[in-house]
Amino acid sequence: MVQAAFTLGGELIEPGTRRQVDLPAAKLYTHAPLHIPVEIVHGRQPGPILLVCGAIHGDELNGVEIVRRLLKLPALSRLRGTLIAVPVVNVFGFVQQSRYLPDRRDLNRCFPGSESGSLGSRIAALLREELVDRATHIIDLHTGAIHRTNLPQIRSQLRRNAETQAMAEAFGVPVILNAELREGSLREYAQNRGVPVLTYEAGEALRFDEWAIAPGVRGIRRVMRLIGMLPADGRRRTPPAAEVANGSSWARAPIDGILRPRARLGARVAKGEVLGVVADPFGHDEAQVVASADGIVIGMSNLPLANEGEALFHVARYEEIDEVESAVESFQSRFDTPGA
Ligand SMILES: [Zn+2]
Repeated sequence: MVQAAFTLGGELIEPGTRRQVDLPAAKLYTHAPLHIPVEIVHGRQPGPILLVCGAIHGDELNGVEIVRRLLKLPALSRLRGTLIAVPVVNVFGFVQQSRYLPDRRDLNRCFPGSESGSLGSRIAALLREELVDRATHIIDLHTGAIHRTNLPQIRSQLRRNAETQAMAEAFGVPVILNAELREGSLREYAQNRGVPVLTYEAGEALRFDEWAIAPGVRGIRRVMRLIGMLPADGRRRTPPAAEVANGSSWARAPIDGILRPRARLGARVAKGEVLGVVADPFGHDEAQVVASADGIVIGMSNLPLANEGEALFHVARYEEIDEVESAVESFQSRFDTPGA
């Protein structure tokens, strides 16, 4: 059975073809049109419709490279179903090297959007109609915010949907967080429609972190095998199921000043452990940043400047922390993560 052709952005996409479509997002103030580039790989045989998208926060670049590498995979010639790949969702933020839209709104808080709303709302409506509402599965690619880095991690609502959980485990990174939905996010919108969505968070904004990109490409491939889009590969072993974190919290700067971090990304830390020290420039007035629970450092600030209350170290808590610690160590040595 051959699957049907469909229309995206006014272009007819035939089965067994690959097309690039430029979705007209809006115009710049100068009236120059701005497009969201989309590549569609429409397999001959029916199967899931997977949307993979990067840079909905315009300065989060690792996902852009993940999408580029994904589209180079030779296995896509045997694709079942349809891959809709969007390297840069927030094209406005991307050209400005900014997380936000020109009106400083966060596109990932604008869903479901409206055709008569402001820029963010209109773009969200366009994405929803052309891309999100077609998808049967979604992987949304993110990084830490500016000056913040994340150990590669999956964030998802695991308990509501067994398929989401299976996808999160198949992705094969050692950190999985059961994350609440943010109002107006792509993930909230799709998840409420019953579509399984994974958010992959890895590395830092405005960087290419190879240790975040390579496992991202590998993870998407594994999910595509799991849901039957790519042929199963008997030679590859499935990764051991990662422990889901019980929760997470940020250790914050106790005073304003200059941060000297002591904990590294991926480290196991104990409650009460000193993760870093914040001090004035002479080091007279010093205060310790202390872990409030046992856990693993899954995110941290890379900027040695902090104001009181600023989030510096993101610590995830676990039931089986020994297992997570060894999974993180082997992941870090394999992908050459900083701190390994
Ligand atoms: Zn993001």
